[in-house]
Amino acid sequence: MGKGLAFSSKDRTSLIEKMGSSQYDLIVIGGGITGVGIALDAVTRGMTVCLVEKGDFASGTSGKSTKLIHGGLRYLKQFEFNLVKEVGRERAILHDLAPHIVVPEKMVLPLIKGGSLGRVMTSIGLYIYDFLADVEGEDKRRMLDKEEVLEIEPLLPSDKLLGGSIYAEYRTDDARLTIEVAKTAYDKGADLINYTSCVGFEYADDKVSGITCTDHITDREFTVRGNVVVNATGPWVDELRSKDETVTGKRLYLTKGVHIVVSRDRFPVQHSLYFDVPGDNRMIFAIPRLGVTYIGTTDTYYNSDKDNISVEDEDVEYLLNAVNLTFPDLHLKSEEIISSWAGVRPLIYEDGKSASEISRKDEIFETARGLISIAGGKLTGYRKMAERVVDLVAKKMPDKTLEPVQTESIHLTDPFFASDRQVREETSKLEKAIIEEGLAGLYASYLIHNYGPAVWEIWQAALAIDEDRSIEEKLILAELDHCFSREMMLKPLDFIVRRTGRIYFLPESVTLVKQIIFPYFQNRMNWTAPELQENHETWDQMVQSLHHFT
Ligand code: FAD
Repeated sequence: MGKGLAFSSKDRTSLIEKMGSSQYDLIVIGGGITGVGIALDAVTRGMTVCLVEKGDFASGTSGKSTKLIHGGLRYLKQFEFNLVKEVGRERAILHDLAPHIVVPEKMVLPLIKGGSLGRVMTSIGLYIYDFLADVEGEDKRRMLDKEEVLEIEPLLPSDKLLGGSIYAEYRTDDARLTIEVAKTAYDKGADLINYTSCVGFEYADDKVSGITCTDHITDREFTVRGNVVVNATGPWVDELRSKDETVTGKRLYLTKGVHIVVSRDRFPVQHSLYFDVPGDNRMIFAIPRLGVTYIGTTDTYYNSDKDNISVEDEDVEYLLNAVNLTFPDLHLKSEEIISSWAGVRPLIYEDGKSASEISRKDEIFETARGLISIAGGKLTGYRKMAERVVDLVAKKMPDKTLEPVQTESIHLTDPFFASDRQVREETSKLEKAIIEEGLAGLYASYLIHNYGPAVWEIWQAALAIDEDRSIEEKLILAELDHCFSREMMLKPLDFIVRRTGRIYFLPESVTLVKQIIFPYFQNRMNWTAPELQENHETWDQMVQSLHHFT
């Protein structure tokens, strides 16, 4: 049974009032994939739940990943069979829950002369990978000879290519996935709020009994009471844990991962590629999406500001070097980068291991006063991580009647697309309508994968705008209305970064969006002149940082 209220920015004040006067079974801190996953699992088992996020949903690592729902092929090298099996199987479940967000994607793995991958080991590795994840039929890996690889990926250098393989993965939009899980949790009855930090803990009988919060929109403080508190703040887990007790024993180890984006014309790969970094025992992805190709990632120890993670010249050099050595005719240059992002992995420290050797397993910690923290893991495994945390939380409320875990069958949009086929059919239907109105066909794919079944409502709203504007402008306005009234959007960057990914995948549209979005927000939010100025500055800094590196 749904809540009956949209996830609207207008409901924020009443939501805060409710949060301040309720006693919840569970309070979750952190609105990345881990936190929202826990909120959805807990509320659908029958707990009363609230969640606070200090920035926007998915503004931490969950908006800055490689955007793959994958089993993590490379973890086989570390013999992490259980991890590969669990996340490998999750891929198909998440695809069924939201086929427009978790989309099948064939990955090509080329075997290059002098590279670290041999044919026999690759074939065995991919066989085990498919086996652990229960991959069947057409989707099973296929080993290819040189000519077959060149046929599907002519950009690869013929003189250096030995052959390759093609195997099944899924691509996603990490921020959209997080936002849809948040919306579903809200719809099922959880109270979730962004731009609100947990700044401290409340105690009763020497146990954590609530949190103090600062609402960054109004600068007001309030307290939320709850029987159990879970810290799901990713890279900030230790920082928040230390507000409860000194962090000893296991702790976080952060590694930075950078992605760069170039125009598809400059790096026209036909498929997603996973290839060796020459001279380094690592691999990177090149993934085509809309009109761009993105390349990533780096993996280096990080101990600087978690709120401002910048892309540095050496990150760019590493990635460009890897691409240019593998594709010698490409000559990609730093000036051609049109967008970029950097995030940090919240890994669990292990003695003597380098950044890329550290396990991606998740771990749960509990302090003497009952604060539960969860860190590590992957976007792909969020549902199972949530299940483990909520199992632990459930043990703390033996008198409460709870349902078993439900999330395997809860679709992430309502209504939902039932299959991949439906996604493809809806995309071609929309493409036709869009082209008729004079907009580029790729907007159909952009809109369907962003908004799922809500897309028709947005498109109809765009067509109904009775103003002397281009169809592109009308579409932006309709998207803004949707994100404002259904997706808790509060700031302009929420729109171009996390609600739509336009800043990464349609960067050429950002100038037009800027002309429309500031008057829109001014109108809705009644900003003062300094607020308007501040938002302009933040926007300009963000846009600058996409291709100016430190
Ligand atoms: P976060 O997303 O960082 O969420 C924590 C949230 O807590 C943040 O939004 C933060 O603002 C909030 N917060 C912090 N302090 C407070 C406070 N005091 N009060 C309130 N809120 C607070 N996984 C995959 O499965 N597939 C991939 O392709 C993949 N690629 C990756 C590539 C890179 C470069 C990186 C860095 C990671 C990648 N991962 C991938 C891993 C995956 O992205 C992470 O495991 C996952 O996003 C972590 O989510 P989280 O919710 O734990 O952390």
